[in-house]
Amino acid sequence: MDSYNSFNVAQQQILEAAKLLNLEDATIELLIQPQREYNFTLHVKMDSGRVKIFKGHRIQYNYARGPAKGGIRFHPDETVDTIRALACWMTWKTAVVDLPLGGAKGGVICDPKNMSERELENLSREYIRAIAPLIGVDKDVPAPDVYTNPQTMAWMMDEYETIVNHHHPGVMTDKPTQIGGTEGRRDATARGGVITVREACKALNIDPTGKFAIQGFGNAGQRAALLHQEIFGGGKLIAVSDSKGAIYNPDGFDAKELVMHKLKTGSVLNFPGSKKIPHNDLLELDVEILYPAALENSISGNNAGKVKAKIICELANGPTTPEADLILNKKGIYVIPDILASAGGVTVSYLEMVQDKYSYFWTEDVVHKHVDEKLTKAFHTVRDAMNEKKVHPRLGAMVVGVARVAEACKLRGWV
Ligand code: NAD
Repeated sequence: MDSYNSFNVAQQQILEAAKLLNLEDATIELLIQPQREYNFTLHVKMDSGRVKIFKGHRIQYNYARGPAKGGIRFHPDETVDTIRALACWMTWKTAVVDLPLGGAKGGVICDPKNMSERELENLSREYIRAIAPLIGVDKDVPAPDVYTNPQTMAWMMDEYETIVNHHHPGVMTDKPTQIGGTEGRRDATARGGVITVREACKALNIDPTGKFAIQGFGNAGQRAALLHQEIFGGGKLIAVSDSKGAIYNPDGFDAKELVMHKLKTGSVLNFPGSKKIPHNDLLELDVEILYPAALENSISGNNAGKVKAKIICELANGPTTPEADLILNKKGIYVIPDILASAGGVTVSYLEMVQDKYSYFWTEDVVHKHVDEKLTKAFHTVRDAMNEKKVHPRLGAMVVGVARVAEACKLRGWV
């Protein structure tokens, strides 16, 4: 993947939307940077008995529309600028699906693959000790992201409740259901993405049961594979990849068996009947739908010209560089942007916050129904904005998100 500064990309996107919306200078100045940013060190007792120092961050990008909301990443390549960009995109994402929330993101620069369960628990608890005064159900509500999961949230919620000496399950979302989590969270991001693909296929008259490929076979990618075939009653999954490599089979994979194989072996490689292909070849396959579900900047100016998909559904945050966006748009490829395509996750997180507040929990069907309504409405609001402003889908989505946040800032008297 190309080394791009994701925050510069995010800022460029804001400026483009602000121009179309004729925003005033002060509004642009407010929206172009995080409202609050916290950088700190964490000291964690490792299994060896020695203490290791980690760098941690929590960035509350904008909270005009409600409590800041966004995940926590544990990743060795994390930088402040990536977290700024992710926090920024969360702000537009919550606004595009019209949730009463702002945007945030957090992270720790660490290598979770080389840490024991106990070290990860120590790190998670230490992270919460550092940010406890800054978060809360009505302030800032974290969730998992890359290499963090419901177990991480359970430790973090427990540490927070110990500090405040009060029961506050809504302080974290994507918790296990036994301790305040919601039904329907595990596949929420993928479900939202597949719903937007369904709407795009209808609008563009594309057959969703054709070929598709998925880059990144983690939580979002695996669920997208399963749900795509479930919701459309078919679809040939011809290629998938993870950090260890990419595999291909022109006859299609059985998504369920592939998920089992990944769970058992830790990788998609060596799945029976598959052929290993170079990482980037996956992005250039002749498919109807391509789901990037790994990390940032995987589709860049170097490979966008070779992409053949008709629809790109960005489950990952920021997988397409601005240069690539222009190329894809020129080629007539419909990119469902991350701030819309991957908004199912935060939508269900919001539904979890609501259920935690009421201490009353819905069935999975009720959650699915709310997600479908929210994502379908958001897809068409973005399409209306695209048609009105005559812009590509990402700019259409940015126009919707930025306009809503700018309006909230103005109503509050901030600008
Ligand atoms: P995950 O850690 O479960 O999965 C990431 C997958 O990407 C892993 O299988 C990993 O092996 C693979 N990967 C890493 N580098 C790769 C590379 N160079 N080529 C191919 N595959 C590679 O994470 P996730 O939760 O599935 O998140 C994936 C993306 O979706 C991230 O950008 C995340 O921010 C975004 N996202 C996730 C959610 C969610 O609810 N899980 C919500 C919104 C956005």
